[in-house]
Amino acid sequence: MITAPMPVEEKISAAPAVARPAEKKVIIIGSGIAGLACGCYLQMNGIATEILEASLLPGGLCTAWHRGPYVFDGCMRWLIGAQQPSAFHQIWTELGAITGRKIFIHDDMLQIEGLEGETLVVPTDLDKLAREFKRIAPEDSRLIDKLVRDARRCAPLEPPLTPLELMHPFAKARLGLDILPMVPAIMRYKNLPITRYVTRYQNKFMRQALQLIVGNKDMSALVLVMLLAFRTRNNTGFVAGGSWDFAMAIAERYAKLGGTVRYKSKVISVQVEKNRAVGVHCADGTLVPAQTVVSCADGHTTIFKMLDGKFVDKKLLYLYEHCQPFPAIVQISLGIQKTFPHAPHTLNLPLRQCLRVDDQQQYDRLEVETFGAASKLCPEGTTVMTVRLQTRHDFWMELKKNDPPRYRAEKKRIVQEIIVALDQRFPGLGPAVERSDIATPATFVRYTGNWQGSYEGWLPTPRILGRRIPYTLPKLKNFYMAGHWVVAGGGLPAAALAGRYAAQMVCAEQGKKFTATTS
Ligand SMILES: Cc1cc2nc3c(=O)[nH]c(=O)nc-3n(C[C@H](O)[C@H](O)[C@H](O)COP(=O)(O)OP(=O)(O)OC[C@H]3O[C@@H](n4cnc5c(N)ncnc54)[C@H](O)[C@@H]3O)c2cc1C
Repeated sequence: MITAPMPVEEKISAAPAVARPAEKKVIIIGSGIAGLACGCYLQMNGIATEILEASLLPGGLCTAWHRGPYVFDGCMRWLIGAQQPSAFHQIWTELGAITGRKIFIHDDMLQIEGLEGETLVVPTDLDKLAREFKRIAPEDSRLIDKLVRDARRCAPLEPPLTPLELMHPFAKARLGLDILPMVPAIMRYKNLPITRYVTRYQNKFMRQALQLIVGNKDMSALVLVMLLAFRTRNNTGFVAGGSWDFAMAIAERYAKLGGTVRYKSKVISVQVEKNRAVGVHCADGTLVPAQTVVSCADGHTTIFKMLDGKFVDKKLLYLYEHCQPFPAIVQISLGIQKTFPHAPHTLNLPLRQCLRVDDQQQYDRLEVETFGAASKLCPEGTTVMTVRLQTRHDFWMELKKNDPPRYRAEKKRIVQEIIVALDQRFPGLGPAVERSDIATPATFVRYTGNWQGSYEGWLPTPRILGRRIPYTLPKLKNFYMAGHWVVAGGGLPAAALAGRYAAQMVCAEQGKKFTATTS
């Protein structure tokens, strides 16, 4: 990924690369959304912080890359917290992430096209969704009603803004009461794999459509219920300017709050004395002392490399040995000198010929996202389209290492096949493609270090749902973890909330009452 330098980067990278802080600060590892959020909240509470970031830019996975006049967004498709009242809207406001930005809230989630000309537009409104699903599959009306009823019941679900660890017993009881009406629905779906759930439907197209809404075959059916629940509140949207502007706005907020990010500062280990984190060692040989360390970097690297696997227990080992990260992906992005006014924002379509993405996986469908000029990702009269496909992490890592010419050839082949496939659905697209790009798992690993190329931390499978992932490690003091590796399902809101929770825990450790501001 190549990203154009932005003014904010110069501002926040002004700190000398190897300078030692005069006082002991809270050292945060990683300037992804979790690291930036944690830094913002600690600065708001008068606690001095410094973020050490391995790469050249803030944002981590929340990024984009610029190609000519096009911005290829490497992350945001939909963001929870688009509207008030909502806990995540409050967080984005506190972090300055969405202030003054247009948010596109669509009436539908996606359009699914079948091989025999069937089309299903999945509305976000649950009444409309029930009608549309029953139009396609009247024979499954009973199941559809039940699904919609459960989604409606879960729609009010909001995360608490205080971590359970710090919550007053009354607040905990209140939270329990709020969640109580949702519990039966949650229990009904939590342990049910989506593949098994969809077999209950008689209608073949409906079975396929429900699976496509969820995406991954290994996920729990609860993901389907929660997706419908979140979307029906009209609280999810795409923020104009996309991931790049979103991440830069938070980085700017952090800089304004007095925080510093040191770029090109890869942390290789955490210095521990008497079971207490006291600093970090960087790859350039620097030892940065710390009052407290918060790792917002990859979970596996933090626990098993930076800390040598010395602070683990059975529960943590189970997580890393038996639970599944989100799969790696390839992302193909096209900058097109043409507009497609009738293209759905998200379209899942069948392919005439299967598309092979690695040595084992091939697809007979693909999902394409379309962005026009209003998205601020491309100029008037042009379009950006992106396609993401799950793939095998090891295939791309080995190819890049052992056979670079084939790595390049495979990337080129996939881009060309995608252009041909999209041209069949959108005639005239092929010749109008002005720029193209493909990011592989090797790209994501190189820029963010995420374990096995996971793009969102832990996959919400029946195995992990309901499991609490701790923010601290056994027997290690003055050390916290935050980010999408401490919340099953990951995502931008989870990363930011985890950063907020970690900041609250550090405040509590220092005897400070936590406050959050919006300016
Ligand atoms: C293609 C794609 C689409 C997505 N779509 C959505 C979406 O639509 N909605 C949504 O909510 N979420 C989406 N996500 C998920 C979301 O981007 C992530 O869950 C979130 O950004 C994770 O943030 P984080 O701060 O926890 O981790 P990261 O973004 O991984 O940040 C970790 C940071 O730590 C740095 N780091 C790592 N190791 C070290 C080290 N040793 N020393 C110093 N620094 C280090 C990395 O460089 C990185 O900057 C998507 C992700 C991808 C890739």
